[in-house]
Amino acid sequence: MIYLDNNATTKVDTEVLNAMLPYLKEEYGNPSSTYSFGKKVKDEITKARNNVAKLLNANPDNIIFTSCGSESNVTAIMNAVRLNPDKKHIITTSVEHASIIETLGYLAKDGYKITFLEVDDKGRLDLEELKKSITPDTCLISVMMANNEIGNIYPIKEISKIAKENNILFHTDAVQAAGKIKIDVEDLDVDSLSISGHKINVPKGIGVLYMKDKKMFPLIYGHQEKNRRGGTENSAYIIGLGKATEMIINDNYKMAEEEKNLRDYMEEEIKKNIEDVYIYGDLDNRTPNTSSIAFKGVKADELMLVLESFDIYVSTGSACNSELAVPSHVLTACHANLDDYSPIRVSLGKYNTKEEIDEFVRKLINIVGMIRRR
Ligand code: PLP
Repeated sequence: MIYLDNNATTKVDTEVLNAMLPYLKEEYGNPSSTYSFGKKVKDEITKARNNVAKLLNANPDNIIFTSCGSESNVTAIMNAVRLNPDKKHIITTSVEHASIIETLGYLAKDGYKITFLEVDDKGRLDLEELKKSITPDTCLISVMMANNEIGNIYPIKEISKIAKENNILFHTDAVQAAGKIKIDVEDLDVDSLSISGHKINVPKGIGVLYMKDKKMFPLIYGHQEKNRRGGTENSAYIIGLGKATEMIINDNYKMAEEEKNLRDYMEEEIKKNIEDVYIYGDLDNRTPNTSSIAFKGVKADELMLVLESFDIYVSTGSACNSELAVPSHVLTACHANLDDYSPIRVSLGKYNTKEEIDEFVRKLINIVGMIRRR
């Protein structure tokens, strides 16, 4: 098979799995236990925390392990709300992940006013609009670092500066940025940031929340993670995440560069061989692995199904909402003409090869031609 849906999830790296296995088998001690059988696990968790901190240029004390990126996002939002009980306004964008949009939808029912900043046709934000939407009642600005569908990278440093100038907390969802672009929480000066293991070749079920301020309201109460996230540590997964982050640090984003070269090559080959192609997003400012690409008159759903029959996997939107028969909110926000140009999302990962891309493009040329001739 050819798997080209790495923004949905990624294959577990063998080195990651090997690092995890002892902690799923013989080293099953509870890291909170005071005897050596537990202490050994605790030490490995500490190493993993140090690796994650290094990847983000954070202090390890500010790294909290969670169950997923969604939990990290929800924790950050609920923390901001509870820290500022008198402020009832939150600013976000119209292209965020469901875990942000739906949490804010819940808060809206509870009386909060939510501003969803609009984007232009290329999915870009207007920071003047952001400035204008701030009120004395604003308690949080939450803007993703990179979009899962079109790959756009948002100007987090500038947004963080605006938030600081107005004394507002700033959260960024960096789930689609981790491993693809450099993240430096000190330089970006964010208050909180989320990442997720299964987007960087770790199994599903592990996330990270970076929290600048050590005083915070947890979502799950308990003594673990210095009282910031209760629940016995998911040791093996944390250790796997530590391994994956160590590999990204050692690789120094060479893999991301290779993915970019392969993605750019793919887009060039497609444009050379197929007419009327449109690529969504901010083309010069995208994550290196993502391409949201449409072929005039060809419905993405049909294209995806035919590709699937050849064991080639792409998506037609984020996996989280693709089972809903509604147009993607990201594409709608970009004013996409989905009748003529409905895109498939091709997202590369570290295991994709040039041979796979050549095969994919060959199939695409045939399928698009066949559908258009009908
Ligand atoms: N944020 C973004 C931008 C995502 O793409 C995803 C997953 O698709 C998430 C958050 C949620 O991460 P998780 O699946 O770990 O909850």
